[in-house]
Amino acid sequence: MAEIGIDINKAKSILEAGSLVAIPTETVYGLAGNAFDQKAVASIFEVKKRPSFDPLIVHTHSLDSVKELVKKIPTKALLLAERFWPGPLTILLPKKQVIPDLVTSGLDTVAIRIPQQSLTLELLKSLDFPLVAPSANPFGYVSPTSAQHVNKQLGEHIEYILDGGNCTVGLESTIVGFDDEAKATIYRLGGTSKEKIESIIGTVQVNDHSTSNPKAPGMLASHYSPGKKVILGSFEELEKIEKSSSTASITFSKPLKGIGISHTVVLAADGKLTTAAQNLFSALRELDKPSVKTILAERAPDHGLGLAINDRLKRAAAE
Ligand code: AMP
Ligand code: MG
Repeated sequence: MAEIGIDINKAKSILEAGSLVAIPTETVYGLAGNAFDQKAVASIFEVKKRPSFDPLIVHTHSLDSVKELVKKIPTKALLLAERFWPGPLTILLPKKQVIPDLVTSGLDTVAIRIPQQSLTLELLKSLDFPLVAPSANPFGYVSPTSAQHVNKQLGEHIEYILDGGNCTVGLESTIVGFDDEAKATIYRLGGTSKEKIESIIGTVQVNDHSTSNPKAPGMLASHYSPGKKVILGSFEELEKIEKSSSTASITFSKPLKGIGISHTVVLAADGKLTTAAQNLFSALRELDKPSVKTILAERAPDHGLGLAINDRLKRAAAE
């Protein structure tokens, strides 16, 4: 098992030696390595069993350091960066040569973000290289939102987990790209809502989870899989489904009748989408146990973070 702690210097020296450290971010925990070190990057793919056609996000601490990694920043991208960084927004930008092709799976854009997590920001500032950090879970499984989640699945492969507590957002970052100066596209819905983005740069197109989208080769239909049959529906639709002792439920604000208490998760008793997002991945993990065969999952309201929550549930439900 990995050591869990808050020692930034320890994390720094492990990373400088070319090894991996799990780091907290506001979205999910990342499996971090030196973005400039091919070997470190390759070991991330290996530990996660992630296919090499699935590019990584580069994390850094300031707009100035972003400028060292990319050829240019379109005006609208800069507006988004200034408004939402540090935060759960990833921007695709034309990469400079310093970024190894392995990081971007050969694409000429690199995904970049400045995370909003104090320990990780401090760590990034102390390093003289940026970090690639995909979610710290085996490829295809539910993303980790606590140090314990990481330790359970990848503890054998990593030395140290920097512990920032539970992730405050709980969903991956929103990914936005620019075909030209003017046109923005969301390639993955996530922690920064479409509405918020549109309030800064006007209408954006959403082009998520296509399996054949060359811009985002990682966006496979089946992902976030808890290893159970997941049935997605409205509360009313789920009420009508026949339940057994192996049925579990994840609902938005009130419990479904006919399901045992140990199989029942209500994501947001307060009715807030932000709370539901925080709890979603740990709920999927909690219900990944032998006594559960089927998970009935209520679709969240179709706006704001609800769109990203529904995207993850849809993928968890995909065969
Ligand atoms: P993860 O770090 O596990 O949240 O996954 C990062 C995701 O970002 C990948 O699965 C891709 O879908 C996306 N991504 C990363 N780099 C690029 C890029 N250059 N172009 C398009 N999508 C990217
Ligand atoms: Mg991931």
